[in-house]
Amino acid sequence: MSERVSLRSVEWSTFQHVNPRGQQEVVIYTTNTNSDYKKCPQSVKVAAFDIDWCLVRPKGMKKYPKDSLDWEWLFPCIPDTLSRLRLEGYEIVMFSNQKLAGRSPKHFFLFQKRTKNFLRFLESWTVLSPVSGVLYRKPSIRLWELYERLFHGGHHVDRVGSIFVGDAAGRKDDFACSDRQFAYNVGCGRISVLF
Ligand SMILES: [Mg+2]
Repeated sequence: MSERVSLRSVEWSTFQHVNPRGQQEVVIYTTNTNSDYKKCPQSVKVAAFDIDWCLVRPKGMKKYPKDSLDWEWLFPCIPDTLSRLRLEGYEIVMFSNQKLAGRSPKHFFLFQKRTKNFLRFLESWTVLSPVSGVLYRKPSIRLWELYERLFHGGHHVDRVGSIFVGDAAGRKDDFACSDRQFAYNVGCGRISVLF
């Protein structure tokens, strides 16, 4: 549990999940505070998303962003859709494997700044990103369980009423099937695949 950052009117916090060897495994960015803690987690529905090539992509034809401003929405409707889901009562949570961010401070801060940039319009959100090791990487359900542990006292949220949207679905040209398997393992009631 570390730094608190104030960004315009949105205050958000950074947490780190560290393994017994002192290695940082997951970074968590969130606008949620203790006051957001729900007494009845079973009624909480989550609209969960992958980040890269699901919500945002680098500008142009690049596969990876060159700096923290190098991003654009994958579709123009995405910010409105996120805002609408929030108004409908969903918690907006991003589950995004970010092995590259764990490789060097430069990559780490690029990811952090880029996340700040594209989520600054949204009032309430949480990002959980495994940055090293394999334990918490999608498709492991541990990442979702960590979210439930940190924000809902370890109780299950309404997984069947939750949505997951990702792009790694095990299709012919996909690099992995981790998004689809993750959503299936969690038991999300609605799973959407992009591209
Ligand atoms: Mg992706």
